[in-house]
Amino acid sequence: MRHEHDNDVPALGFDSLAVRAGHVRTAEGEHSEAMFLTSSFVFGSAAEAAARFGGSTPGNIYSRFTNPTVRVFEERLAALEGGERCVATSSGMAAILATCMGLLQAGDHVVSSRSIFGTTNVLFDKYFKKFGVTTTFVSLTDVAAWEAAITPQTKLFFLETPSNPLCEVADIAALADLAHRHGILLAVDNCFCTPALQQPLALGADIVIHSATKYIDGQGRVLGGAVVGRQKEMEEVFGVVRTCGPSMSAFNAWVFLKGLETLRLRMEAHSASAQQLAEWLAAQPQVARVHYSGLPTHPQHALAAKQQRAFGGVLSFELAGGREEAWRFIDATKMLSITANLGDAKTTITHPASTTHGRLSPEAKAAAGIGEGLIRIAVGLEDIKDIKADCARGLAAP
Ligand SMILES: *Cc1c(COP(=O)(O)O)cnc(C)c1O
Repeated sequence: MRHEHDNDVPALGFDSLAVRAGHVRTAEGEHSEAMFLTSSFVFGSAAEAAARFGGSTPGNIYSRFTNPTVRVFEERLAALEGGERCVATSSGMAAILATCMGLLQAGDHVVSSRSIFGTTNVLFDKYFKKFGVTTTFVSLTDVAAWEAAITPQTKLFFLETPSNPLCEVADIAALADLAHRHGILLAVDNCFCTPALQQPLALGADIVIHSATKYIDGQGRVLGGAVVGRQKEMEEVFGVVRTCGPSMSAFNAWVFLKGLETLRLRMEAHSASAQQLAEWLAAQPQVARVHYSGLPTHPQHALAAKQQRAFGGVLSFELAGGREEAWRFIDATKMLSITANLGDAKTTITHPASTTHGRLSPEAKAAAGIGEGLIRIAVGLEDIKDIKADCARGLAAP
């Protein structure tokens, strides 16, 4: 057996790690990674079973704990993010849940960006609150507001950059520095950039969170998530996953592994088309405003250019006519998929105020900047001329 990637050889570049890291061939000599669809593993003897359960011999026991296919995915993503260890989960929300359950306890306080995925907001605001963990929401881009929100109980900073759907960009290094001066951990949801465009750990973050459902799959097939960080914190996150059960399935891990192999190529293609679409939309008179960090008019364009390798595939824009005009635009498109998912080869179009952010109160929506005329597009891999043509149909809708 020959290891595809030996961790003692640090010379492999990102693209090589993306296709090779973590893979250990079985005796069959398979070229593509094997998929271990098995819930449990057998032991050679009663004594071996006891030793594995007791932890004195390493090895698989049950796929809620570990699975060889899931492990290859974890090692590969850890290598791409530059983290010591990755823990895979059943979804992106499970990754956030497991991180907070593992690292927080009743009485602790979180400072979170206000501009986070809608469901993450509900998780903090409703469910963690029930268990005594409180959250203060602040502006993603206002470092002074993060500092002012710190209390002696603050244990975690949580953010997503670029944000969904307004593409605001956080200064990861500045917030990591602030967090560490107060003994606080910084967790970054890196779903929108993926390690192909941004490596938060290298910028000082302690924990990276993924909804693998999005770009890591890249073709809208399966749900999954992941947490990457230092061994110490990941051991706590792993404990939650193996005990509470939001583990990644071997099948999904295999799909994500194949996704990682083409991740950088796809992220570059998504970003290039999103840039073209953002520039085109910005030139249309019916469009009041385009939110995309690749536009020089974006307030954090310089920061995004420094912190990211490209600007990503998601953009949003505002129509002056509110919900009615936004819905008319969406309904007039013919090719784009009307769905809340993103990070797919197929371009998707969403009205955040009535879908992904629909559960927020009108005040919370206003505070988060989610207007009724806002449309989000996650640019896919189709011809850019066809995506533009569909948006032109939207703008021309009576
Ligand atoms: C989708 C998403 C999540 C949640 O992931 P699931 O896999 O749907 O549970 C978390 N964060 C961001 C930024 C997302 O886009």
